[in-house]
Amino acid sequence: MVKDLYDVTVIGGGPIGLFTTFYSGMRNLKTKLIECTSELGGKITMFYPEKTLRDIGGITGIKGGNLVEQLIQQAKTFNPTICFNQRISDLERLSNGTFLLRSEAGEIHYTRTVILTVGAGIFKPIKLDLPYSERYEQYNLHYSVDELERFRNQRVLISGGGNSAVDWANELVSIAKSVMVVHRNNDFRGHERHVSEMREKTEILTPYTLKQLHGDGDFIQSVTIEHTETGLTKHIEIDALVVNHGIQGDYGKMAHWGLEMREERFVVNHAMETNIPGVFAAGDAVTYPHKLKLIAGGFTEGPIALNSAVRYMNPNAESMAMYSTHHEALLEMNHETLY
Ligand SMILES: Cc1cc2nc3c(=O)[nH]c(=O)nc-3n(C[C@H](O)[C@H](O)[C@H](O)COP(=O)(O)OP(=O)(O)OC[C@H]3O[C@@H](n4cnc5c(N)ncnc54)[C@H](O)[C@@H]3O)c2cc1C
Repeated sequence: MVKDLYDVTVIGGGPIGLFTTFYSGMRNLKTKLIECTSELGGKITMFYPEKTLRDIGGITGIKGGNLVEQLIQQAKTFNPTICFNQRISDLERLSNGTFLLRSEAGEIHYTRTVILTVGAGIFKPIKLDLPYSERYEQYNLHYSVDELERFRNQRVLISGGGNSAVDWANELVSIAKSVMVVHRNNDFRGHERHVSEMREKTEILTPYTLKQLHGDGDFIQSVTIEHTETGLTKHIEIDALVVNHGIQGDYGKMAHWGLEMREERFVVNHAMETNIPGVFAAGDAVTYPHKLKLIAGGFTEGPIALNSAVRYMNPNAESMAMYSTHHEALLEMNHETLY
């Protein structure tokens, strides 16, 4: 028996990996969580820690960062092993049926089952391809809004038309001097109510694209935008530029493990099983008919994947964990944490 053999290894410390880790503890399993960055929370931590989420049942509104704090605290309930800065790149089935996982840097992990909660893999914002844009990143060219306060009383120009651009426009309006949104199409992708709110509260210029950045080499002072149909240009003075032209995910070597994929996601069945026995998946990483790309949806998929992992290890096991309200260890904790 390998000394450090875990029952379950969850790969990816986003919201779904964190909740799955907690649930694994509920089922009394030896659990490891591996995250490739230095922080937990996945897309929430990376892209919208300041945004308020309102589509999780029973929570009328919670800042992304606060939700992550709660998830981390919850994930640690049963003392799982948590590894940071390890991008898992290789999976090998050993002769006894267990798995060996290897990180890009060569760290080795042994596990009986694997749950992939890797989102879209490693994601990076699609960057501006304009002269000197890289230099401006140090000062007032932003690809995410980490801290609302730094935009106080600034003239902010947002470029983009997706969910993030819409969300950031609505968040920034409360603190910035002005918010202008520039988008190459007339339509915005986002929740209808959020798009209407943005249209009411900000100045919108469509269909325009960013053509040129003007500044002193450190700070952008103004931009030129170009009408995509007429070619007419406008010169706009700004204090900060927020660019949201989408994000690109990359699974790296994981895409070559032999997992069935569709539309760049891992195909799972109703039990969150992939086509590799012993490997399960949940959250943004998966696809199946009517998949709901919401955190709330992933909060169910993670436990389903985990319960499938339990049945894979022991076909006679209970099909689900007992309710948290009946769990002995949690009952004891409830005395300390009720508020
Ligand atoms: C701007 C924006 C706003 C959103 N707003 C909402 C909202 O209001 N409500 C809502 O429900 N959803 C919202 N979403 C969607 C939500 O963020 C995702 O559905 C959710 O983050 C999915 O969680 P996840 O854990 O599956 O994946 P992710 O959050 O993507 O986490 C995956 C984790 O896996 C890690 N990882 C990847 N590859 C590896 C590897 N090889 N080895 C180790 N670790 C790895 C990553 O670093 C990351 O930490 C929003 C998304 C965006 C971008």
